[in-house]
Amino acid sequence: MTAEELLALDAEHVWHPYAPMPGRVSPLLVTEASGVRLRLSDGRELIDGMSSWWSAIHGYRHPALDAALTEQAGRMSHVMFGGLTHEPAIRLARTLVDITPDGLHHVFLCDSGSVSVEVAIKMCLQYWQSLGHKAKRRLLTWRGGYHGDTFHPMSVCDPEGGMHSLWRGVLPEQLFLPAPPPGFEATIDESYVEQIHATVERHADELAAVIVEPVVQGAGGMRFHHPGYLRALREATEAHGVLLVFDEIATGFGRTGRLFAAEHAGVTPDVLCLGKALTGGYLTMAATLCTQDVARGISKGELPVLAHGPTFMGNPLASAVANASVGLLRDGGWQTDVRRIESALRSGLECAVDVPGVVDVRVLGAIGVVQLDHEVDMAAATRAVTERGVWLRPFRDMLYCMPPYLADNTDIAAITDAMVAAAVVA
Ligand SMILES: *Cc1c(COP(=O)(O)O)cnc(C)c1O
Repeated sequence: MTAEELLALDAEHVWHPYAPMPGRVSPLLVTEASGVRLRLSDGRELIDGMSSWWSAIHGYRHPALDAALTEQAGRMSHVMFGGLTHEPAIRLARTLVDITPDGLHHVFLCDSGSVSVEVAIKMCLQYWQSLGHKAKRRLLTWRGGYHGDTFHPMSVCDPEGGMHSLWRGVLPEQLFLPAPPPGFEATIDESYVEQIHATVERHADELAAVIVEPVVQGAGGMRFHHPGYLRALREATEAHGVLLVFDEIATGFGRTGRLFAAEHAGVTPDVLCLGKALTGGYLTMAATLCTQDVARGISKGELPVLAHGPTFMGNPLASAVANASVGLLRDGGWQTDVRRIESALRSGLECAVDVPGVVDVRVLGAIGVVQLDHEVDMAAATRAVTERGVWLRPFRDMLYCMPPYLADNTDIAAITDAMVAAAVVA
């Protein structure tokens, strides 16, 4: 089929993320991807500044990931996980326990980030049910978060960003703190810390868990906060008998400069969600980890099992490619790359502060953000960046990038130039 025919069929039949139907803007048709580059049907190549929504940290067609996938496909692509098990999933679970903060001991492998958040919430609710605390079924979070698109995760997304008004009566009503004070390096706001303690204490009888994205709030607004607030959450939840869940689906696997963002705070949550970069962006898979205490609590209940079991749980292909992707991180070379990208983003985006309409420029690890005082003109921004050989997907008032770790300084310069150019026209 020609590109025109394909795009006509796409417009006719295919939903795209957060899109109306029929769609208003034609997507770009990608035919191949390699390293940091996407190749389009018209022959153009674009540097991917998005890592396919944070996931392709090693870039495309990485020889080690391709080999792991091919090798596994030669053995078996899938078997059910009920009553059966296999080496790729066992090795992956053990590796995740080894590399995540100390104390997380059990691993539930699931299909996507949203499902891993569902599982995390189910673990917490079932834990308190099992221990006889039937009233502990609500969640507390802070505003500005994003935890996925299925219903329970939506209930802890930012109420405005997640359009909670549309879902009144459908979504469970959770408790919200104000968004954490901005700035990774800002001084701690003691009144916010007090508010954390007071809120957890006041609602302890009805709270099953606090759930947050540590250090970086991603799709909820690309905001960074001081790791000290995570320590405050840990202390408050521990003091008042509430579980703590960290959603590291976006921040995990090195993106913020530490392998997991929880390390910035030196805190272990009771439950941890991983996804996105878990398979290096090759296949959909996520993981929910928990402590022995959480697992034992659940297993004491009248229903002594975790009541969840997706069809494609522990998929061998995804497990094999995840093992290879995590394997690439284990020599620690990513740290040098992320540090290099961080300084290249800082110098490349410095001049954006002088662009009229830009209200903030911030960088942390391999994340660069240019925030405007108005909604981004998507068409103008997309034109500006693609003309410069770069792919970015802005949202709301935000131009941002999260390049693959193998992006070199020339690639990063192209990305930052494109972001500055987009800020001017968008
Ligand atoms: C992307 C994301 C999710 C949802 O993951 P999906 O795989 O898209 O379902 C949940 N939480 C965070 C922090 C995310 O960035």
